[in-house]
Amino acid sequence: MRHIRTNAFNPVSPEQADFLQDIIISIDDELIVAIKSFSAHQGAWEDYRDCIVTPGFIDLHVHLSQYRIRGIYYPALLPWLEHTVFPEEAKSRNPDFARHISEDFYRALWRNGTTYSVIYTAPYREAAEMAFIMAQEMGVQARIGMTLMDMNSPDGMQQSTDYALRNSIELNELYQNQMLGYIFTPRFAPTCSEILMREIGTYAKRNRSFIQTHLSENPDEIRWVKELFGKSSYTQVYQDVGLLSPRTILGHAIHLSDAELALLKDSASAIAHCPDSNFYLKSGEYPLSRIAQQGIAFGLGSDVGAGTTLNMLYHAKQMNYRQSKHPVLPAEMLYRITRANAMILGLDHRIGGLKEGLQADLNIFQVPSGFDIEEHSLSQLCFMSEDFQLKEVLVKGKNKLPAY
Ligand SMILES: [Zn+2]
Repeated sequence: MRHIRTNAFNPVSPEQADFLQDIIISIDDELIVAIKSFSAHQGAWEDYRDCIVTPGFIDLHVHLSQYRIRGIYYPALLPWLEHTVFPEEAKSRNPDFARHISEDFYRALWRNGTTYSVIYTAPYREAAEMAFIMAQEMGVQARIGMTLMDMNSPDGMQQSTDYALRNSIELNELYQNQMLGYIFTPRFAPTCSEILMREIGTYAKRNRSFIQTHLSENPDEIRWVKELFGKSSYTQVYQDVGLLSPRTILGHAIHLSDAELALLKDSASAIAHCPDSNFYLKSGEYPLSRIAQQGIAFGLGSDVGAGTTLNMLYHAKQMNYRQSKHPVLPAEMLYRITRANAMILGLDHRIGGLKEGLQADLNIFQVPSGFDIEEHSLSQLCFMSEDFQLKEVLVKGKNKLPAY
């Protein structure tokens, strides 16, 4: 049992983060068993009074197999995929390569305070399976998918429809745990046949499985989808094949008509907003106000490798900076990388907050020397995270912060 004397911010809603000053967080094994005022505590305690605690961060959209190509620049989505992403993902067919990159990636997640993530791998069973094996070995919490692409893909990467379906269904049956489980991962409509998407949609609906894909990121991509499928919109393609559901997470969703927003709302699909990536590739500005007004669920993803870092506080800052008119407040910045993502994953009863009974997935940040610890500390953490040193990253109560 640990009793940590500290200060904390608990995300409640986009408008509210509760500031908990001079408290004791009691942890027994994997769980938070009590959070109370220090004055009500008796007995021993550990001194973290110069720190602030947040829930562990959740990354709603990240490509493990692209971890090492961050920062290799191409100024548009489709050329970047062709020249940078595909040659790199091809390496993950080799299980040794896949093992090493998985291990590096998971350590880097913890170094940045991310304690749960929703992961794309590469179009090979070996890549996804190794990501699961290493996650199990290391105690990583995630949903992981084998990226699916059965058309318009380079030689050596294009899967047969049968390979894509059979292996993803088998992996889904092998990995059912919600803290380490499968997610069906068609890359995006331009590389997925209608039959593949329809089969995935039907299977996922029957089995209540999670699905992730990309939607309306870039104007050239949207034109391509129009040519390929001839539907009224990109979102309509996914709707018609049955990929939209309350367990579907759509990356980006930037260029959307009102009719498309209605499809997302009616299907209760969620969006993974990836602001760093959106401006790296000059894809466009996320229509945050329109999406929030519709009540469509959304959270934040790093989208590494188009995103340049796994640091979710950096992405929270980018969410603010990449809105030209709408100021995103610190309470919302914290909420979108914790509780909002937990709710989308159906895991808010376990992670994403600081409450008795939740898992002890916590980040302990050292506040810069001489700084006050007050309500405004959350704002400073969000806007200048590089000055707050991570002292511990707890996953189910165990410190996972690599020792270097
Ligand atoms: Zn992506």
